[in-house]
Amino acid sequence: MHTGKYRIKLKKTSERTVMGQQIVVLAGGGHAHIEVIRRFSGQMPNKAAQKAIRLMLISPARHCVYSGMVPGVMAGHYEVKQALIDLSELCREHNARWVQGEVVQVDPATRQLVLKDGRRVRYDVVSLDVGSATNTQGLSGDTSKYAVKPLLSFLERWQGFVSGAGQGEGKKLLVAGGGVAGIELILAAKHRLPFIEGYLVSRNGILGSHNPRVKRAVNFALNREGIRVMEQLDVVAVGKAEKYGGIVTHLSDSSTLTVDFLLLCTEARAHYWLESGGLPTAESGYIPVNSNLQIIGYPGHFAVGDTAAFNPPLAKAGVYPVRQAPVLSYNLFAYAEGRPLRHYRPQSHFLNLIATGDQRAIASRGWFYCRGHWVWKWKNRIDQKFVRQYKT
Ligand SMILES: Cc1cc2nc3c(=O)[nH]c(=O)nc-3n(C[C@H](O)[C@H](O)[C@H](O)COP(=O)(O)OP(=O)(O)OC[C@H]3O[C@@H](n4cnc5c(N)ncnc54)[C@H](O)[C@@H]3O)c2cc1C
Repeated sequence: MHTGKYRIKLKKTSERTVMGQQIVVLAGGGHAHIEVIRRFSGQMPNKAAQKAIRLMLISPARHCVYSGMVPGVMAGHYEVKQALIDLSELCREHNARWVQGEVVQVDPATRQLVLKDGRRVRYDVVSLDVGSATNTQGLSGDTSKYAVKPLLSFLERWQGFVSGAGQGEGKKLLVAGGGVAGIELILAAKHRLPFIEGYLVSRNGILGSHNPRVKRAVNFALNREGIRVMEQLDVVAVGKAEKYGGIVTHLSDSSTLTVDFLLLCTEARAHYWLESGGLPTAESGYIPVNSNLQIIGYPGHFAVGDTAAFNPPLAKAGVYPVRQAPVLSYNLFAYAEGRPLRHYRPQSHFLNLIATGDQRAIASRGWFYCRGHWVWKWKNRIDQKFVRQYKT
């Protein structure tokens, strides 16, 4: 139905294409999409094939942050810019178009994405790699500003704290979340600001699914740094302290702790806007996909990384979208050209390299465990190599 409002919106649609050209839109500059961009020109057999596809990436910010290096930035081992990938430059280098925007809805019926500012972007093939958000459900107070995601906002807040309020003794920092990220970040914070009092609050204990030797090594590191671990506890509310601008955290045992820096590093949750469009969502709020990485029941619509709900579910970790990228890249263009699609088979285990802040790290995979400075050097090499691929 063409209502007046609808026509105005369509006029704002930002794409004009050459006849027969397929518009492939990548929503979000996640781990898989940056690789799709990098492979684009190389994957097309010739210039004509490349011209038949118009590849576009939409993301809210020009840079995306490589999460694997965030603890190293926090600890002061890297500058922020070392962990950033310039999406605009990456697109320019590989003949794709970068559009700054935040997707708030996917409309599969009209094959359009709706952006926060009202623009609509038409697509023939679309892929969602928009990651996940920090789950602050059940917490009252203004919690979003203390969340670890978006990563760039968190890093800016941390840099501000380090150069100002964080200096001086007697300051307190609380990290909520006993997963790998929470542990890495509190150890990184202690390394950067050794005088700070560190508190780690975790609902389900430390590193739930890791082997006992890894847990022992992590507990040893937390102990050595004097970090107070409070297990089987939740932060249930946050508020502003009346005096000196601290943050009051209310815990699930009815106690309160006033801190100078709060970081919510609780589990991931799906972006709420995914449910507002016409696409299906699983109970978890993520988007169900099949082994071709296509959204179930929606040909030409793909989802990867944290955004996708696999059956059985996969951990929310960057290693998965990295491995999905070659299959996604192939399938997006195969779909656009009417060729058969490939299947993605997830690995059952993946290697975790857990940085302990002091340029040492712990390796964990199933029952495998080792630790030391050389493990950090190994992680550092992997991380730097990953980011280097996307620096132009
Ligand atoms: C501190 C920290 C450290 C971590 N370390 C590791 C690690 O060492 N190894 C590991 O495997 N995993 C790690 N993880 C988990 C890992 O970061 C995520 O699982 C991974 O980033 C998911 O990748 P993705 O491609 O799904 O999305 P992301 O890498 O999160 O990318 C999503 C992108 O989409 C963009 N976006 C978001 N919303 C929108 C929107 N509405 N419209 C358009 N674009 C949007 C974002 O700006 C972002 O660029 C870590 C997580 C944290 C918080």
